[in-house]
Amino acid sequence: LKMQLAQSQKMEAIGRLAGGIAHDFNNLLTAIIGYGSFLKTNMDKENPLIAYVEQILSSAEKAANLTQQLLTFSRKQIINPKPVNLNEIVKKIEGLLIRLIGEDIELKTKLADEELTVIADSGQIEQVLMNLATNARDAMRHGGTLIIETRLVELTKEYKKTHDVEAPGVYAMVSVSDTGAGMDEKTKERIFEPFFTTKEMGRGTGLGLAIVYGIIKQHNGYINVYSEPGKGTTFRIYIPIAKPELKESEPIALPVPTGGT
Ligand code: ADP
Repeated sequence: LKMQLAQSQKMEAIGRLAGGIAHDFNNLLTAIIGYGSFLKTNMDKENPLIAYVEQILSSAEKAANLTQQLLTFSRKQIINPKPVNLNEIVKKIEGLLIRLIGEDIELKTKLADEELTVIADSGQIEQVLMNLATNARDAMRHGGTLIIETRLVELTKEYKKTHDVEAPGVYAMVSVSDTGAGMDEKTKERIFEPFFTTKEMGRGTGLGLAIVYGIIKQHNGYINVYSEPGKGTTFRIYIPIAKPELKESEPIALPVPTGGT
């Protein structure tokens, strides 16, 4: 618990700092992109310098993308909380995910029969799934399977003992699994830290999972990770259910944790 507290304080401080910088940077980049585009459209098509202007624009756009991520990371409140069915969110972004992961990776979705009503900002939950799917894709360079599953689960007091789950109760669970490279223990310990990345320069920002963590905390949820090098990784996310409808579901055996927060 102490570790979790330190983690969230660290995230908050970095978030505030990053948010401030990102905001100022955004204004500067708006000028660079604006005047750059103006230059480009007003230059003679034959001008050999046009390639350099394009280079400036493409770098500035990458930087804008990064600041956008920083801003998302530093935003504190749930923007637009509403009762939503988690299954519907998954269905809605399925098409987007298929395009994101490319042809060599197969997407399998297994949705719970029950309605999984949670109070959430569906845009933010979509972002969570996108970030997890992006990482899964990057871990499956030679193809594989991405599995997205939803379930209604009851987190019991027993679970609480081993998982720092402060509030036992009924949750909507969504898991994102890949058959990719997996992670060793040392990597797993640090994945939620802002700016921690094992990806090459320009590919990873190290913010994806920090954003995921922040969003899930804001929804009073939990996130666990199970991973084995060479086998793959599963992220499980739990969000408190708004209307318990557990009666129809079987009790679910929760997996033995190999780590997580
Ligand atoms: P980024 O994707 O920019 O590196 P993240 O915060 O999303 O930042 O991820 C941090 C690190 O966690 C990654 O660089 C990678 O080492 C590890 N990671 C995250 N998801 C997975 C996964 N599904 N499989 C293997 N490693 C992962």
